[in-house]
Amino acid sequence: MSRPCGLKCAYVNCGKSARSDSGLKLFRFPKDVNTSRQWISNCGNLNLLHLDVADLYKMRICEHHFEKK
Ligand SMILES: [Zn+2]
Repeated sequence: MSRPCGLKCAYVNCGKSARSDSGLKLFRFPKDVNTSRQWISNCGNLNLLHLDVADLYKMRICEHHFEKK
């Protein structure tokens, strides 16, 4: 179980950070509960299910996990 860290991507098996990848864009979890739930199921990190929205808001997902629109 990895420790929650706001500077690292919370996506399962990713763990990239702005420090390890310079120029990497990291996106905060949304404050909206339904949207953040969706992010959790997308990122496959079930540890996040135990966090409340305020804690999730400190977590980040890196740009590699977003579909380009
Ligand atoms: Zn990532």
